[in-house]
Amino acid sequence: MKCKRCRGNAEIQVRHHNAAYCRDCFIFCFQRQVERAIDKEHMFSRDDEVLVAVSGGKDSLALWDALVALGYRTTGLHLALGIGAYSASSTQKTEAFARLGGLQLITARLEEDGLAVPTVVARTRRPACAACGTIKRHYFDRLAFEHGFAVLATGHNLDDEAARLLGNVLRWQTHHLGKQQPVLGSTHERFARKVKPLFRLSEYETAVYAFVRGIDYVIDECPNSEGATQLLYKDALNRLEAVMPGTKLTFLQDFLRLGRPRFATEIDGPPGSCGRCGMPAYAAVCGFCALLGDTDTRRSQRVIPASNDAS
Ligand code: SF4
Ligand SMILES: [Zn+2]
Ligand SMILES: [Zn+2]
Repeated sequence: MKCKRCRGNAEIQVRHHNAAYCRDCFIFCFQRQVERAIDKEHMFSRDDEVLVAVSGGKDSLALWDALVALGYRTTGLHLALGIGAYSASSTQKTEAFARLGGLQLITARLEEDGLAVPTVVARTRRPACAACGTIKRHYFDRLAFEHGFAVLATGHNLDDEAARLLGNVLRWQTHHLGKQQPVLGSTHERFARKVKPLFRLSEYETAVYAFVRGIDYVIDECPNSEGATQLLYKDALNRLEAVMPGTKLTFLQDFLRLGRPRFATEIDGPPGSCGRCGMPAYAAVCGFCALLGDTDTRRSQRVIPASNDAS
């Protein structure tokens, strides 16, 4: 097998592009695809300071690595979620990556705010991923705003986006379909523009990139991800992809070109401001403050019977 770019010995096959590469050319092509996505979708320029959400997994670290190699100005943002050994390892890998590259990293520890995911789940009895998603969105938005970043980049890859699209289509979530795009412009003074530079690169490609770049990332999945519907959608798409290479890319690309514009009118108008924290909200309080309210309510519900007993 010959490398498509230099005609040397190929080691890495990318089936959906019907191509194979040597290590160096794979790295070059991966980074070039990231750069193209950024330019073509007008995500940001080399003058922008970009905040990169880094979980410690392969996708976000591969993204950060590629952005640094391409000469973009970046700062990492890591949330230590407080999910036992998984979070400890995620934080350790992220901090080690930043230290090794001499990169700037902001780490927020939810435990210090009394908001470790298991604590919130125990107090509210909400599903772990729903609570975690609400907390993460709020911290990303708030920290981007507080640190003055206009752009927030995440490591969502092609598999993530195709699985999300499949889920939205299966339930005809027209509102979500209208918003599903690689660049989400700012609709509130406290909202950074959200961008996904890896949206055309598959999970396989980011895993190979992380491997050939020697990135030490957390391999274990979050214990709460077991049985997540997102994994079911990914599995279904992987089966289609195995028989019809290119299915995921075509599904997503054609949706963005042909489908999404038809749902654009389904999007809400710009959000207002949360009456409690001032962050963007579509109701009187934002989802995060509603979650906090829930933790308070449950806590006081537990206290009342105890004091009644005592009287
Ligand atoms: S799997 Fe769920 S709980 Fe775990 S990090 Fe992801 S969203 Fe959070
Ligand atoms: Zn080559
Ligand atoms: Zn709020």
